[in-house]
Amino acid sequence: MNPDTLHQQPSLSIVCPLHNEEENVEPFFARLLPALYETRESFEIVCVNDGSEDATLDRILEIQKAHASLHLRIIDLSRNFGKEAALSCGLHHACGKAVIPIDADLQHPPEVINEMVALWRQGFEVVLPQRIDRATDTIMRRITSLWFYRLFNMISEHPIPPNVGDFRLMDRKVVDALNLLPERQRFMKGLFAWVGFRQAIIPYDCESRSSGRSKFSVWRLWNLALDGISAFSTTPLRIWTYVGLVIALLALSYGTFIVGKVLLFGKDLPGYASLMTVILFLGGIQLIGLGVLGEYLGRVYRETKQRPLYIVRAKYENPQTHS
Ligand code: UDP
Ligand code: MG
Repeated sequence: MNPDTLHQQPSLSIVCPLHNEEENVEPFFARLLPALYETRESFEIVCVNDGSEDATLDRILEIQKAHASLHLRIIDLSRNFGKEAALSCGLHHACGKAVIPIDADLQHPPEVINEMVALWRQGFEVVLPQRIDRATDTIMRRITSLWFYRLFNMISEHPIPPNVGDFRLMDRKVVDALNLLPERQRFMKGLFAWVGFRQAIIPYDCESRSSGRSKFSVWRLWNLALDGISAFSTTPLRIWTYVGLVIALLALSYGTFIVGKVLLFGKDLPGYASLMTVILFLGGIQLIGLGVLGEYLGRVYRETKQRPLYIVRAKYENPQTHS
């Protein structure tokens, strides 16, 4: 927990990463604040401006100015570090007894928070809103995400519940556990699953983006998927032992077959085509194996550099709320 914010621990911390969301800031707060007041809990909001190039920061500062008594803390990062890093930054700075990360594009309806808090008060340490359907996503995204989760859950020891995102309520114990994890490459959904704790699931309707476009292109999602899989499973590394073994066995039986054939029927004409096929096939297989090895090596390299996850340019807090 951040020592300079130990003054009065609020019940709830809302953590919101923002990257180029200038049009969404106002509608987001217009819906978030009533939903938070409805819970009748004390709360703070931690906004992490993840290197926005538009007026996102100004918009949040305006909100901060307009609501002098609001516990709104703004953390401005020095550049775009990516959603996972921005979220980690928010979790490091949040000091509530429960923490709720939420997207600023209103895809996560703030009205669900009341229900989440009720379940938390009943003793659940993690409350997961689960999307009933993904109608707001493109077909491509739905299919790729379905296959990613299938593959991930097949090869990872810590399965991720399907259709559950970063929007969730976590008890302080859970956030403290997450903050202890030192890794640089943070695939948050995987880390959330890794820490465990008692979970409750509530269904909700995911809405479409209030304005603007998703920041996750196909390429970025692919990289996130690679990060996720390599961070939580070594199966892709191990697989090559078996592929090699199968190919060696096949080669051995084929070799025996050729030797037998020559002994029985005499010399055969050299087969250029089959030779080329085998060489190219094996070359390809070896390169794929090397590529997978490289993926892991690259990640080990990045981890050993121990660079910070994010760099803070400035923090803004309402002076009135500072006791
Ligand atoms: N976001 C961020 N940094 C980034 C990309 C996104 O902080 O590099 C924020 C973004 O402003 C939004 C949330 O993460 O509040 C989710 O982003 P987006 O809606 O683009 O993702 P999607 O809903 O498509 O998964
Ligand atoms: Mg979104």
